[in-house]
Amino acid sequence: MTDTYPNLFEPLAIGGMTIRNRIVMGSMHTGLEERFFDGKRLAAYYAERARGGVGLIITGGIAPTRTGLLLPFGAKLTNRFDARRHRRATAAVHAEGGHIAMQILHAGRYGYTPFKWSVEWEKSPIHPFRPIKMTDAMIRHVIRSYGRTAVLARDAGYDAVEIMGGEGYLLNTFLCPRTNRRTDRWGGSTENRQRIVVAIVDEIRSRVGADFPIIMRQSIADLVEGGQTWDEIALLARTLEAHGVNAINTDIGWHEAKIPTIATSVPRAAFVRFTERLRDEVSIPLIASNRINTPEVAEEVLSGGRVDAVSMARPLLADPHLPAKAQAGRADEINTCIGCNQACLDHAFVGKKVSCLVNPRAGHETVLVLSPTRSARRVAVIGAGPAGLAAAVSAAERGHRVTLFEAGPSIGGQFSIAARIPGKEEFSETIRYFTRRLEILGVTVHLDTRVDADRLVAEKFDDVVIATGVTPRMPSIPGIDHPSVMTYADAVLGDREIGDRVAVIGAGGIGFDLTEFLTVTDSPTLDAKEWDQEWGVTDDLDTPGFVTKPRPTAAARTVYLVQRKTGSQGKSLGKTTGWVHRATVKMKGVEQISGARYDRIDDDGVHLSFPDSEKDPRVLAVDTVVVCAGQESVRDLVDPLTVAGVATHVIGGADLAAELDAKRAIRQGTEVAAAL
Ligand code: FAD
Ligand code: NAP
Ligand code: SF4
Repeated sequence: MTDTYPNLFEPLAIGGMTIRNRIVMGSMHTGLEERFFDGKRLAAYYAERARGGVGLIITGGIAPTRTGLLLPFGAKLTNRFDARRHRRATAAVHAEGGHIAMQILHAGRYGYTPFKWSVEWEKSPIHPFRPIKMTDAMIRHVIRSYGRTAVLARDAGYDAVEIMGGEGYLLNTFLCPRTNRRTDRWGGSTENRQRIVVAIVDEIRSRVGADFPIIMRQSIADLVEGGQTWDEIALLARTLEAHGVNAINTDIGWHEAKIPTIATSVPRAAFVRFTERLRDEVSIPLIASNRINTPEVAEEVLSGGRVDAVSMARPLLADPHLPAKAQAGRADEINTCIGCNQACLDHAFVGKKVSCLVNPRAGHETVLVLSPTRSARRVAVIGAGPAGLAAAVSAAERGHRVTLFEAGPSIGGQFSIAARIPGKEEFSETIRYFTRRLEILGVTVHLDTRVDADRLVAEKFDDVVIATGVTPRMPSIPGIDHPSVMTYADAVLGDREIGDRVAVIGAGGIGFDLTEFLTVTDSPTLDAKEWDQEWGVTDDLDTPGFVTKPRPTAAARTVYLVQRKTGSQGKSLGKTTGWVHRATVKMKGVEQISGARYDRIDDDGVHLSFPDSEKDPRVLAVDTVVVCAGQESVRDLVDPLTVAGVATHVIGGADLAAELDAKRAIRQGTEVAAAL
């Protein structure tokens, strides 16, 4: 117990296991689970989090049968050979004083395999293959598989198992009328739909003995039509407790839900109220999840006394030492998860190894190493955007003597503009983290200092890292110098007045962000209630899935979002968050115009024609034109320094403006420092 966190660091008993605090690292598929030849890397990833003080780690989902694999050749635990590989991970966690539970997950219709089993023949809307509808014998086989896998998990050294019962995977599809239309004893009534879950718990309990903890990941708000009602959820929770489940890890939303559940724009701890409600039904520990990303929020959730632990999955990717830092009174040093999904979920969904935008070492602990240097060098880093900040901090961590030059009055670069976009306010946490690291590591920082090559040559640095980033591109449209035209940076930083009717030129990531900024700028970030209304979440206990008709707040301006490409807009946005931006723009009534040619800009507005279609030319009568037409690299230091024979390293936007994001910028900054 600490004064700041009277609840967070209290131990918690879950069945026969006592964890050292209330922080649970929720299950995340990392892409390392199935690499049986690379168990060392997965073990190092878990060990780092255990060393950082987390109470309990829950593994990514492990299938109990081949029919429930997430991916072809995906992670499974079905025999003693598989179990040997798992032992490496459990031993690594125990060596650091931590506990680890294995999640058993049958993917059902969400498997990316052609031979998957599910409740019905129906495909999911987000996966390509049709599943095989399970017969009674197949269902009984799957129930037995859960029992066998739990025994293998216990023998492999896991301290507990968690049964995945949410997110639209197999068990969740049995529970909901949305997907379960069976007429046998596994469908129809609530009791029939819940039968498979209860049978699995009974099977596991009968095989692992009374003491081995079983955790249920229970969906307590499906957030899809045809989801469970509250009575059904409460009944299942009570039944699970009666059948020997030791804790309920509450789960929110199916993968196919049209309501964001973990994106940055979701208010912190938005769904904890659903977990709290379950307190009236059961006495076993309840674990709350979703958008709990700081120890302060976690403590607040626990302080109500209705929740026993918090699940922080992505926050521990971002900073494996979050618990230890909080406990030591160093919360201001935590590298906070900003909810972007760019290197975690977006990677998982395309089969890439999971990492973290703000911590590129996540999942790469054995390959991206910042070891202390044997010969400290004098390093200049030019530019304090994400790339330069990562380079400066990582080089200083290794023991190099670092000087950071920034032309602007503060650090952050383009990321500071991003942090002003509604729903991206969390990005300022990254800037706070870097500010603190620079202080602690004693990096010499020169703000308001646009350095030139002469000074850098004269100061005889051993290495110069050029992280001078990007500048907004101004396309050569006739009238681009009209007074109504401004860059996205001008628009966001408030240097210029913006009218009521606006045309946004360019519908990339920044065009979408600016559109959101322009439509909501007069009503700042939504509170939890407004957010529920905007997306259609209801607290009404009788509404299945808790989804209702969205009631978005009105747009503050009339906005046109324009691109030259034909076809729909926003295709390049993130896999798991792009749909949120596309839906937001739509609900704000923004007119999206594709296939346009910009003929000119004048006092009448923006003149468009449509060379690839029959559409008539038109004029967008707007007061303001915001240009979001990509960026160009700032590389003016590269040639003179190279000619002068200085050892230069070019990273981030200065290296390449195309397809630049902060993920690449921070990764390149870290990599360059690791190699110095
Ligand atoms: P920059 O951020 O451009 O930083 C370069 C720095 O160098 C600047 O601070 C500049 O002042 C300084 N500098 C230049 N020349 C000199 C000199 N001679 N001397 C001293 N200093 C100099 N990315 C994402 O990954 N996810 C997002 O959701 C996202 N959203 C965004 C939303 C908006 C509205 C914007 C504008 C950007 C967004 N980005 C996002 C992009 C992200 O911010 C950039 O990819 C990232 O900032 C690039 O980092 P960088 O360090 O390479 O360059
Ligand atoms: P972008 O995604 O490349 O989009 C640039 C847009 O400008 C395109 O829509 C392009 O479309 C248009 N354009 C390009 N050249 C033009 C020209 N000469 N005249 C008129 N229009 C032109 O770049 P961005 O929006 O500037 O974003 C920069 C980076 O930040 C992106 O790579 C992105 O990864 C990152 N970012 C990410 C997020 C996120 O949520 N993950 C959010 C914001 C930014 P047409 O050619 O069809 O007109
Ligand atoms: Fe959080 Fe983004 Fe890192 Fe994922 S990639 S853990 S969402 S900061």
